[in-house]
Amino acid sequence: MSVVLGRDEAVRESYARDASGLHLVPDAVARPVDVQEVVETVRSAAGSRTPITAAGAQTSTTAASICSRGILLSTRAMSRVLDLDERHGTVRVEPGVLLGDLQQSLASHGLFFAPDPTSQEECTVGGAIACNASGPRTLRYGSTRAHVRALTVVLADGEILEVRRSSLEKNTAGFAPVQDLVDWFIGSEGTLGVIVAAELGLLSRPAREIGLAIPFADEAHALAFVVAARESARVRPRCLEYFDAESFAIARSSAEEPAWAAGAGAMVYAEETSDGEEAPLDEWLALSERFGARDSDVRVFEGDAAIREARRLRHAVPATMHERVAPYLVAGGRRVSTDWAVPWRRAAEAVALARRHADEARIPQGIVYGHLGNGHPHQNFIARSPDEVRTIEAVVERTLRDVISMGGTVAAEHGIGKLKSRWLPLQLSPHQIGLMRAIKAELDPFGLLAPGNIL
Ligand SMILES: Cc1cc2nc3c(=O)[nH]c(=O)nc-3n(C[C@H](O)[C@H](O)[C@H](O)COP(=O)(O)OP(=O)(O)OC[C@H]3O[C@@H](n4cnc5c(N)ncnc54)[C@H](O)[C@@H]3O)c2cc1C
Repeated sequence: MSVVLGRDEAVRESYARDASGLHLVPDAVARPVDVQEVVETVRSAAGSRTPITAAGAQTSTTAASICSRGILLSTRAMSRVLDLDERHGTVRVEPGVLLGDLQQSLASHGLFFAPDPTSQEECTVGGAIACNASGPRTLRYGSTRAHVRALTVVLADGEILEVRRSSLEKNTAGFAPVQDLVDWFIGSEGTLGVIVAAELGLLSRPAREIGLAIPFADEAHALAFVVAARESARVRPRCLEYFDAESFAIARSSAEEPAWAAGAGAMVYAEETSDGEEAPLDEWLALSERFGARDSDVRVFEGDAAIREARRLRHAVPATMHERVAPYLVAGGRRVSTDWAVPWRRAAEAVALARRHADEARIPQGIVYGHLGNGHPHQNFIARSPDEVRTIEAVVERTLRDVISMGGTVAAEHGIGKLKSRWLPLQLSPHQIGLMRAIKAELDPFGLLAPGNIL
């Protein structure tokens, strides 16, 4: 085999952590530069029944991109944009290209790829597809799944499989789960195959974009505003991101504006676009006022650079929590980060229940922020020791039971990975899990791909 495996301790250690806080050291690291090298690596591993876990930029919060057995296959050396077809609005890329780099290169063509995880500057396209990532603008454009046209995948035995969305308008051949093979791999977290190329659908950039950061007196007013903005016929939000008091404090300090809306207890960041005509700024301000926001507190971000700055403030929240937990990692602490979602009209109710469970267990309230427009907050707790991890996870599990009874999900965008697999049965029936196992057995009979992820 021509792909040299990195077996040095230093090399293996450098791929032993992702954003979950766990530390799992692989037996070896493969860094293929092209499809053929992936095929050779996978084929050789299959021959010796060695497990392989694909990894992109390792920003997974669920330990999906680290492993303690077998080969960690990093796609970072496969980072080329292969073909941009402006006429049809598609781009073909290798899996290791960073999403932020791709967005930058598309911007000069007036195009963009809709999925925008807040980690987009650090994460790869392959990782985003394998997790079905989403982001603030998912509110308008949907998650990654909606924007993947075709994939090239190396299966567990080294076979190359090309899958493409059908352009059929009618199809009754067989059960729905087998009809679109592209969907099998999106969100499969490395368990069904290694994605080696992807064709993505692109959108034209709108003529105007504005962002509004709107402080409110408290959580109740802010969350009621989110529902009103979604229901309004006068504004058309592209995103509705929530910051509770503590996450707003992080955003303020990241903006170096400690005095900004000092009395506010919550903030909502919204984006609006328009093609030609003025963006309806007045409508937004009028709606905000109905929920007690003061015009003088509202920050407006207009144009590309300003919107990027607003996104930096948003990204500061998970990034700061990541930094805050760092001192506790050696002692077995970690950030416990929830990813549940409920139908969006019930988000305020779900947040209140989550807070009540924390109070009842007498643990500090985690911070709550994120994609409330989609009914999808993140609740982040800092656990300083394994004991605190256990206590917090018991609180999270109680919240998840409520979330499921409200028609929600245990994982809306970060995937299941290794950390959340025990919560999957709260949501999926034995039949659904059995069907996933059957698909896994069909494609990867020896269970070599990303063992421990999802199932
Ligand atoms: C600060 C921060 C903010 C975040 N914000 C968001 C957010 O807003 N939205 C969101 O959805 N997520 C978010 N995440 C989670 C994470 O960034 C995303 O899931 C991201 O898409 C993962 O990409 P990655 O390249 O880092 O993948 P990795 O972490 O390397 O891998 C993730 C999973 O994908 C699999 N994988 C990677 N590449 C391939 C491949 N080529 N073929 C097959 N499987 C593969 C891995 O096996 C693993 O299961 C955030 C994380 C952090 C740390």
